[in-house]
Amino acid sequence: MRAVLAAMLALGAGCASPSRAGDDDDVPHDASGGTGSDGGGGSSAPIDVFDPTIARVIVEIDYETNEAPYTGNVIGFGDTFDPTLVNMNRVFANKKMLTIPTQLANMQDIGTIPDEELTLADLLAIAQHHRDVHDLPDTKSYYVVFVSGHFADQNGVQAGVLGVSVGDTIAMFKDVIRQSQSLTDPNAVRYVEQSTLIHELSHSVGLVDNGVPMVAAHKDAPHGAHCNNPDCVMYWLNEGAADARDFALRRLLTGSSILFDAKCLADVDAKTGGL
Ligand SMILES: [Zn+2]
Ligand SMILES: [Zn+2]
Repeated sequence: MRAVLAAMLALGAGCASPSRAGDDDDVPHDASGGTGSDGGGGSSAPIDVFDPTIARVIVEIDYETNEAPYTGNVIGFGDTFDPTLVNMNRVFANKKMLTIPTQLANMQDIGTIPDEELTLADLLAIAQHHRDVHDLPDTKSYYVVFVSGHFADQNGVQAGVLGVSVGDTIAMFKDVIRQSQSLTDPNAVRYVEQSTLIHELSHSVGLVDNGVPMVAAHKDAPHGAHCNNPDCVMYWLNEGAADARDFALRRLLTGSSILFDAKCLADVDAKTGGL
């Protein structure tokens, strides 16, 4: 059972679903409204990133001291951040100018955050204090912060949550990500971090049925804004960090592997016109 809780959290629960009323009951709802973890909202009115007037998409990445994301080249795989770049470019069918930093020199160390039990309000406060990139008439931005400690909600500390998406703000819980380390594949933890980042960014963008309508029904409704296909990055992994690792190792064969299934791609392609 240990893994079960972690499971929902893994790529699931933690990443609540923006703007839905009462469908992710596995998600620890915050006190900010009870309609999903992003109830508190990051920056005012949601802007549809798929709107044709949005030409640029910028992801800002900050990290707590000593909690930076993994970066750099992996022999036989590619750059550590290739999966996020390739998959998010695929979400937009390569039709947006997408900027995601891939090296620490282009990310910011924001110092130590003493709080190790971070609520949605705490995360939004961090974003408010440290976020530098904001939306413009032609630009949609997302803020990602890598932190130590764990996500906490009204049910307490959620030890299995790898990441949380709250509107256009994303938190990545480095201590949990590190738990996915594998003796047999030292790069597994990098892949888990990347697949988690893709998962959370995709929630923020609108998957599954989280702003982007479904072309064919594939929402795993009992688990919120998730896909019902275990081989899709938007599946709420049902056994925690260990399964997040299994998924990443199974699907991330190279840095250019697409981690979405056909139904998730169909949803975004309906917005972009496809490749
Ligand atoms: Zn999720
Ligand atoms: Zn899917």
